Amino acid sequence: MIPLPPPALRLRLDKEALAANWRTLDRLSGAAQAGAAVKADAYGLGVAHVAPALAAAGARDFFVAHWSEVPDLIAHVPSAQVAVLHGPMNDADCAFARATGVRPVLNSIDQVARWRESGGGACDVMVDTGINRLGLSMASLGDPALAGLEIETLLSHLAKADEDSAFNEVQLTRFRAACDQTPARRRSLAASAGIALGSDYAFDLTRPGLALYGGVPHPALVDAIRPVAYPEAEVLQTREIAAGEGVGYNHAFVADRAMRVGVVSLGYADGFLRCWGGRAVLRHSDAKLPMLGKVSMDMIVVDLTAAPDVRAGDWVAVPYDLPQASQATGLTQYELLTTLGRRFQR
Ligand SMILES: *Cc1c(COP(=O)(O)O)cnc(C)c1O
Repeated sequence: MIPLPPPALRLRLDKEALAANWRTLDRLSGAAQAGAAVKADAYGLGVAHVAPALAAAGARDFFVAHWSEVPDLIAHVPSAQVAVLHGPMNDADCAFARATGVRPVLNSIDQVARWRESGGGACDVMVDTGINRLGLSMASLGDPALAGLEIETLLSHLAKADEDSAFNEVQLTRFRAACDQTPARRRSLAASAGIALGSDYAFDLTRPGLALYGGVPHPALVDAIRPVAYPEAEVLQTREIAAGEGVGYNHAFVADRAMRVGVVSLGYADGFLRCWGGRAVLRHSDAKLPMLGKVSMDMIVVDLTAAPDVRAGDWVAVPYDLPQASQATGLTQYELLTTLGRRFQR
């Protein structure tokens, strides 16, 4: 095999910050243990890099959404520490859970019945306390199908944890009632933002995702969470343009002076979406390189006035402070992470 040449996009992961964020969230979870949501390839950062770092930091519970996400995860952590949030939709899912040893999260009486028919065993159960997404209804908790079920963790999920809303307490009260009614070894309600709501919400296990990866879903976490993901892109070419010349599709930028610009290997196919147009300021060391014109599929153009020494083959930093990037683009911090494309070397 001919070795691949070096990539033109890389996603630098600060594993030290990732571990520190997990420890912070674990500490903020009080007596509860913090787990880790690593669905969607650890929010786009690469589960093969993220999971071992979190395990080394002390995480012992890992959540994915799809069954297809299990193999990449159990290559790095014990399968008994893995739960699959979408639950078993069919017999193949049950057989897969059984063969791999990961736990299904059962979200309906149908899924409970399916799991029991397949042989049962340790499982998690999601109860819906008001988000109206996945989960058993409160009313169905008395169903005989649940009697004797071997529930490792009873879960619920908050709809408005990132808001100062009275509905958080409504869900808290409902979850306590669900716990009273449903015997389980552990109880888990809070994700990243829920951890910021205080120890009442922590129960036995918390399930942070976004905040592990540098996201700040609640103002109370601003100073506690460190950035983790640093996208970087290669400069493909530099050029001199004259006053009056246009740059990129539709000439969305027209130079009002002679200037030197750089063509950077980063486009919307890499998750750098069109909404960055006219907003992004890339960096080379401390020099600011404002983006000029539109985002193409594979390229953007930046102003090199502040960095006259930049040459083709140099690397520039993509602005990815998540709260700031979210403000600039209107994308959520979740979208900013999970849309980073496959061409980034992780
Ligand atoms: C995604 C998810 C989480 C993690 O949420 P964050 O807001 O990223 O911390 C936790 N629990 C469930 C059920 C989820 O779907």
